[in-house]
Amino acid sequence: MSQRSVLIIYTGGTIGMLADPRTGALRPMDLAHLEEQVPELDRMNVRLGSESFETPIDSSDMRPADWVRIAKIIGTNYDAYDGFVVLHGSDTMAYTASALSYLLEGLNKPVILTGSQLPIGTIRTDAKENLITAIEIAAAKDEQGRAMVPEVAVYFEYRLMRGNRTVKVHAERFEAFRSPNYPTLAEAGVHIRYDRPAILPHRSGPLVVHDKVDDAVAVIRMFPGIRGAWVGHALTQPDLRMVVLTTFGSGNAPTDPDLLDALREARQKGVILLNVTQCIGGRVEQGRYATSRALAEMGVVPCGDMTVEATLTKAMCLLGRTRDPLELERGMREALCGEVTAL
Ligand code: ASP
Repeated sequence: MSQRSVLIIYTGGTIGMLADPRTGALRPMDLAHLEEQVPELDRMNVRLGSESFETPIDSSDMRPADWVRIAKIIGTNYDAYDGFVVLHGSDTMAYTASALSYLLEGLNKPVILTGSQLPIGTIRTDAKENLITAIEIAAAKDEQGRAMVPEVAVYFEYRLMRGNRTVKVHAERFEAFRSPNYPTLAEAGVHIRYDRPAILPHRSGPLVVHDKVDDAVAVIRMFPGIRGAWVGHALTQPDLRMVVLTTFGSGNAPTDPDLLDALREARQKGVILLNVTQCIGGRVEQGRYATSRALAEMGVVPCGDMTVEATLTKAMCLLGRTRDPLELERGMREALCGEVTAL
């Protein structure tokens, strides 16, 4: 059996940070610093390659252009490696994982994002386990020699989750991520146990790396007392194309006439409105309550059990491919890569 190979792509995040001696604030360090802290990497039976952002960043500074940068690195190195591990800050990891799932169309190899809550140099760090197991998963094959996980996934604290189903749920716990609406793809204990039926099937076509993302998208969170006039103001930005409305429960919103007028006006001007629930789990069902009827009637697109992260990035990635409103709406309604459960 030939030696497996994994490319580590280092973008930044706590995993590789060090405390600034002057201020005490954590700052990203280079990849060499990170590798020095994990001598175990040399003992793994995996050939490791590495690529790094010139200036590693805190993931709060991650922009759509950076998602494209990561996707392109994977595209360029696709044939040379069995799998990919993306080291990334946890704060916006769910956004990047979601975006990569759309940018890497036809992906048939593992792209595993991981990071940590404590820097790799600290004694109680969670970084080593996350990194080592992520590499193992990226290199794992099934009995037929095919990638065990041919999709974009997040590995954090003993759990592998579909990337576009994840949300960051805790600012401090090592168990920082959840996949509320989709089963865990694998659990790592003494053995790594894969839930094979939950993992996306293998694809036979070539990898298509999309290299355009359009950020003409906004998120508006509903809250009791939200003012229609303010929403109307936000919705009249000239280059706004799609808006994710985060709603209550199963997709409900206040029935305040000013708010509904503002939304209706935006619809009439061609802005595509998307309905995602603020709840951590469950799905949008427009029309179940009277408070979502008006949204259904004006043509708001219900986004089922998608996360806000998966919906926002999907809107941006689809806008990068087309400006045709019908195609955009169709794309938002269908599952591209396991991001939504069909009814
Ligand atoms: N602020 C850090 C980041 O997202 C937090 C982390 O890495 O966990 O880059």
